[in-house]
Amino acid sequence: MHSTIPQPVCVLGSTGSIGVSTLDVLARHPDKYSVFALTARDRVEELAQQCRKYAPRYAVVLDEQKAQQLQLALRNEDLPTEVLWGVDALCRVASDTEVAVVMAAIVGAAGLQPTLAAVRAGKKVLLANKESLVMAGPLFMAALAGSDAQLLPIDSEHNAIFQCLPYPCDDLRQAGVERILLTGSGGPFRTTALEALDNVTPDEACNHPNWSMGRKISVDSATMMNKGLEFIEACYLFHATPADIQVVVHPQSIVHSMVQYRDGSLLAQMGNPDMRTPIAHALAFPERIDSGVSALDLITQGRLDFEAPDEARFPCLRLAREAMEAGGSAPTVLNAANEIAVDAFLGGDLPFPGIARVIEKVMKTTPVVELTDLDAVELADRIARERACEVLEELYGTHKGMPCPQSRSM
Ligand code: NAD
Ligand code: MG
Repeated sequence: MHSTIPQPVCVLGSTGSIGVSTLDVLARHPDKYSVFALTARDRVEELAQQCRKYAPRYAVVLDEQKAQQLQLALRNEDLPTEVLWGVDALCRVASDTEVAVVMAAIVGAAGLQPTLAAVRAGKKVLLANKESLVMAGPLFMAALAGSDAQLLPIDSEHNAIFQCLPYPCDDLRQAGVERILLTGSGGPFRTTALEALDNVTPDEACNHPNWSMGRKISVDSATMMNKGLEFIEACYLFHATPADIQVVVHPQSIVHSMVQYRDGSLLAQMGNPDMRTPIAHALAFPERIDSGVSALDLITQGRLDFEAPDEARFPCLRLAREAMEAGGSAPTVLNAANEIAVDAFLGGDLPFPGIARVIEKVMKTTPVVELTDLDAVELADRIARERACEVLEELYGTHKGMPCPQSRSM
């Protein structure tokens, strides 16, 4: 009989929505995968429980105090787990020679350094953390080209596009691709009266009709900035220009995206909205493994609708396209301003339509520079965060509890 050693997997952001789904898939295949490292910012008790269940070699938290709490929580367990803390430790476990696969599922700009470390170390990198690609796209792709790493998209849309393209695909034209159709549900406010958007709450914004996700990406889905970030992500991942990609609103989230070919063929990847499908696909690629997701029943589903996005309702889509067209640090600025504005909205300091207003003003008043190296990315990110905090003051008065002006992430 043919037997193989399980591949060691590092799950960055293991306590998040994607992290938990990843562990669910891994637990279905102990013969194929082992858990090498788990990481979280602060949910120590959840991380401790994951350590008890998966017995990783390392568990990493963000600061020393949390590390002590985790050590205390695990003190009576007979585990092989060493507790580490800080960004350097995240990079270390993501690039450890023993690791085969890295799930990059930290939310926001904080994911950049460990994800890049995994790329540089030549790992198989499963990319959920779209923000790292948006903020540092050209550098990220250059690091990928200069290493043996394999990058597989976890974002359901990009995973769908990946599945609808030939593999490998370095040139869309050569592959006969006419355009990429990036689908998005339109979120919880697709049909809400525009005047009512001033009064929607964070919980309402996070109540996505089809997907259960972390709070930041849920708000991004409600503003459709998520689709804007994905638009930029798709440009980098698939070597596409902004003109190659069309956003299509598809409220049921069954078609996860499509690729249209020169001969009139339109290939779609469909499935129930459950992130375990793209996670299992990317983990096992090019094989197929069980993900725990039930098969899509098209007859019960009944209908699939498609419509053009309403850019007056969703200005973030336009802002993201403009940022990609401007190039340089513009997507970095867009991403940083969005993270600050979403934090402010979730903290009750900003009405929902204010998110796009803040981002637009930051973009208009922040010079675009070239991203020559990672220091330039970090500087552009920090300047945009500071500017976003100033704009929040200017437009909405004082704000409480903001992580300004320091970047939380780097
Ligand atoms: P989440 O908020 O549920 O989880 C985020 C994880 O990152 C947690 O484990 C948290 O502890 C960790 N984290 C947060 N800040 C950190 C920091 N400063 N340093 C280190 N770790 C930190 O988020 P999520 O919904 O799982 O999303 C994770 C990523 O995947 C995001 O980039 C998101 O855009 C992307 N994504 C998510 C989904 C989804 O269905 N949830 C779908 C597609 C893409
Ligand atoms: Mg997505």
